[in-house]
Amino acid sequence: EQLRSLLISRIRDVADYPKPGVTFKDITPLLADPLAFTALTDALANRCAEYGATKIVGLEARGFILGAPVAVRAGVGFVPARKAGKLPGPTLGQNYALEYGAAEIEIHADALSAGDRVLVVDDVLATGGTAEASVELVRRAGAQVAGVCVLLELGFLGGRERLAPVLGAVPLDAL
Ligand code: IMP
Repeated sequence: EQLRSLLISRIRDVADYPKPGVTFKDITPLLADPLAFTALTDALANRCAEYGATKIVGLEARGFILGAPVAVRAGVGFVPARKAGKLPGPTLGQNYALEYGAAEIEIHADALSAGDRVLVVDDVLATGGTAEASVELVRRAGAQVAGVCVLLELGFLGGRERLAPVLGAVPLDAL
């Protein structure tokens, strides 16, 4: 609870970004505060151990910033899930719908193996489309999803409900 209030206090609401009427949750003050960033990293590394994860999949771009130190702290590998066209090697891709249009995320085809248990890390769960695509991608790569961890969940967008049938018993944590 103390951790939660520390983290929340370091997230800034930016009105009308990226477009009018939207309030953007900006995590840069948290990243700039070593106590808060360390506390977050430790909490996520604990989840990683608790779930027996063997890899972190971090979603571009803020999932890279949050996920990479967790991987180091937990002693597991880090796998970037990137926007389409950014990874140099052979990839596996997953399309998903956005509010307007579509997007695709990719991982390297050889980044995960059958024995891997993956903790998916991102900053914000909004509609859940990005998280859903990443879960499907991990499973198509032959690995298991051990959990999905986000810093913040925008509850009014229904991401948790959307993910529920996809996740089944797999835990979804917002810190
Ligand atoms: P979703 O696919 O609608 O759940 O959107 C989640 C993705 O959009 C995540 O990768 C987030 O980084 C990003 N996102 C959506 N809203 C916000 C926000 O308010 N702050 C930061 N990132 C956001």
